[in-house]
Amino acid sequence: NRPGAAFPFDNSYVGLPPHFFAAQAPTAVAEPWLIKLNEPLAAELGLDVEALRRDGAAIFSGNLVPEGAEPLAMAYAGHQFGGFSPQLGDGRAILLGEVVDRSGKRYDIQLKGAGPTPFSRRGDGRAAIGPVLREYIISEAMFALGIPATRALAAVTTGEPVYREEVLPGAVFTRVAASHVRVGTFQYFAARGDTDGVRALADYVIDRHYPALKEAENPYLSLFEAVSERQAALIARWLHVGFIHGVMNTDNMTVSGETIDFGPCAFMDAYDPATVFSSIDQHGRYAYANQPGIGQWNLARLGETLLPLIDAEPDGAVDKANVVIKSYGERFQAHWLAGMREKIGLAGEEDGDLELVQALLSLMQAQGADFTLTFRRLSDLAGDDAVEPAFAASFREADACGPWLTQWRERLSRDPQTAPERAIAMRSVNPDFIPRNHRVEQAIKAAVEDGDFSLFEALLSVLSKPYEDQSGFAAYREPPKPDERVLATFC
Ligand code: AMP
Ligand code: MG
Ligand code: MG
Repeated sequence: NRPGAAFPFDNSYVGLPPHFFAAQAPTAVAEPWLIKLNEPLAAELGLDVEALRRDGAAIFSGNLVPEGAEPLAMAYAGHQFGGFSPQLGDGRAILLGEVVDRSGKRYDIQLKGAGPTPFSRRGDGRAAIGPVLREYIISEAMFALGIPATRALAAVTTGEPVYREEVLPGAVFTRVAASHVRVGTFQYFAARGDTDGVRALADYVIDRHYPALKEAENPYLSLFEAVSERQAALIARWLHVGFIHGVMNTDNMTVSGETIDFGPCAFMDAYDPATVFSSIDQHGRYAYANQPGIGQWNLARLGETLLPLIDAEPDGAVDKANVVIKSYGERFQAHWLAGMREKIGLAGEEDGDLELVQALLSLMQAQGADFTLTFRRLSDLAGDDAVEPAFAASFREADACGPWLTQWRERLSRDPQTAPERAIAMRSVNPDFIPRNHRVEQAIKAAVEDGDFSLFEALLSVLSKPYEDQSGFAAYREPPKPDERVLATFC
């Protein structure tokens, strides 16, 4: 039982050409303290949970580099708010290595905030406790909601200050991802005219994430199509739960189809497609309803990097890539509508369903209805007509929803499910509990100001079962009162 022998590392990224990354060990910190270890996840990954309980503070702070780790910072580029940076890279994240879980899936183990790297530019390589707790809460909530996302393995405080607009306690977040390859990773090599690099990366990604494509007629075109499909499905899922990522830069879009980089992200309370939380998104580029379009824009940037691999003849490559980019719109729309049908309790499909969904959304927007509560109460209403007043109370004017309910019931009369079946199905897609922004901020505030992690723990616990009735936690369902509203997030 040697110290640090907790991970059965099996590293592959380090075997890619040397210009794909910079070897970089974490920088030790003064006084590490383990806030949280995600024991169920550690066990799933086949890690030594005992050892992590004992040595977790040292390991997850970077003070003890575990046996078998080959720490490195990945190179990548990216479009940030539309402007291209040819070199970003992991400025504060260090990949320790990879493990293969019990089901044979490969995962990256990465420390975020573990000290400077050759890619740090002017940054300090560190993270503050608030964003670390936010990422922990929201990424685990996404997982529990059934939405592909990177996961939280651990959080530690460092005992060192970090200097932002104010002085804050430093922390390190340990992230688990199917991989950390981003659209921006492809852009890094393409921007250098390094087609061999793009090809080596594409081959690596196909091998790791899309092995069936090795047999495809044009594997690189199929890769582009497969990534587009996963992103279309992912972004549709975000919209179904009111999630706003906040920084959909191309360096924050994975090729695995997992949600990554939980910076200023937040969930919408009252439904408004123009909602923006991020304090740095001044023009609303990444507003709720812009996310599908931004997804397509980012995918077009990925497609550009693959052109030389898709077809030796440039015009032919562009034509093929354009077909994929165009089909993304249809893919997204199909995923989105399928999910919205489920949200309003339709098992079958009819022509007017889109209009029925849109009529509800318009009503919600006009009436300031809470996104999550409206659909959850509609789920209740599907099983029990007596709860109509509770549903109607979501809207500013209690009688506002009457005409829509009439249309809905008329449509349901032609749908195959029984009322009890429908209510169960709806409750399995319409969460009762989301990480409401004011709750997240309260939990962070208690931790930062009072060293009190009880709200953080309680929130994690409630959010781990988002579709279950947890009657003891009714307060966590509620939208913020006017004086509790948190309208801006920071990263
Ligand atoms: P993000 O906006 O979180 O996607 O980060 C964009 C880029 O800034 C990435 O290359 C990060 O590694 C880098 N970065 C963010 N914060 C820091 C920091 N405190 N120190 C060094 N680099 C950072
Ligand atoms: Mg990022
Ligand atoms: Mg970030």
